Amino acid sequence: MKALRRYLPEIDLDEEEVPPSLIDRMIVKRDDFAGALNEVEPSAMREVLVELPKISWNDVGGLEDAKQQVQESVEWPLTSPEKFDRMGVDAPKGVLLYGPPGTGKTLMAKAVANETNANFISVRGPQLLSKWVGESEKAIRQTFRKARQVSPAIIFFDELDSLAPSRGQEMGNNVSERVVNQLLTELDGLEEMGDVMVIGATNRPDMIDPALLRSGRFDRLVMIGQPDQEGREQILEIHTQDTPLAPDVSLREVAEITDGYVGSDLEGIAREAAIEALRDDDDAEEVEMRHFRRAMESVRPTITDDILAYYEDVEQQFKGGGTDALRDTGGRIGFQ
Ligand code: ATP
Repeated sequence: MKALRRYLPEIDLDEEEVPPSLIDRMIVKRDDFAGALNEVEPSAMREVLVELPKISWNDVGGLEDAKQQVQESVEWPLTSPEKFDRMGVDAPKGVLLYGPPGTGKTLMAKAVANETNANFISVRGPQLLSKWVGESEKAIRQTFRKARQVSPAIIFFDELDSLAPSRGQEMGNNVSERVVNQLLTELDGLEEMGDVMVIGATNRPDMIDPALLRSGRFDRLVMIGQPDQEGREQILEIHTQDTPLAPDVSLREVAEITDGYVGSDLEGIAREAAIEALRDDDDAEEVEMRHFRRAMESVRPTITDDILAYYEDVEQQFKGGGTDALRDTGGRIGFQ
């Protein structure tokens, strides 16, 4: 097609046939291949899904402090980079969201992309490693390239710990070392283009290569912890928006007694309560408080004492001296 396009001006489209002399001269050149390579993406990269998420801040309940921090570190550099120039500091390039599972890290990354009208590219650590066996660093490179093409964009690395574990912790090959190095190169190269931001998410911040957490990389660390009572009530409200609730239902009461439940647990309670209502009566038209009580019995809270202690420890480590201090703890912190 590239070659044909070159000859198109010489072809009289009103004629039925192309003159044989022209056909004889037609050749596909090296440049045509080069041009084609620019246009056709490797099929695996077509799977790098670029989306414009529909989640807004209103869909994220509670977590006010964290929201504020994410807004500062992601929205400002994308929407008003001049603020940082004015203050003579570099805008943050990457933010690491860490915290227990199901607390809304993915949700928050999507909300911030939506709010800034940025394209959202989501990369799951384990998936990238398995799909691109032997070529993971190439996949990283292409992900960043894609982000630049569709900027403003946010690249979201979910389960970053699996992609970039501390070098030395890996199992017998140097894949993660190459991946970490590639990530570092890409992050360091982001400077020239302020409109690509990187958000990482992890449940195990202590497992991440400390080099990635230094200044100019994932240099803002935001803990997405368990929601407080008010936050839990908001989350329950969000997830019962379309559910008809009986007058006896008090989401406040549910929120009061669900200490330790995170966002995804509360979503589970709302769903389970509706199912309980249907179980009682096929034709049920509303969900009652007793259904919520039963749902709370079947959905267990994610946060246990161990998990709480682990994150408190990690948070302290990050506050007191940052990543180096964390690294120095060696194997001291950890939970299973
Ligand atoms: P993981 O560490 O397991 O990837 P995560 O922190 O990324 O978890 P999400 O995927 O964002 O968690 O949340 C899972 C689901 O739980 C969301 O789709 C959402 O429905 C619900 N949820 C979690 N947190 C909140 C919240 N703060 N407000 C509203 N819904 C929430």
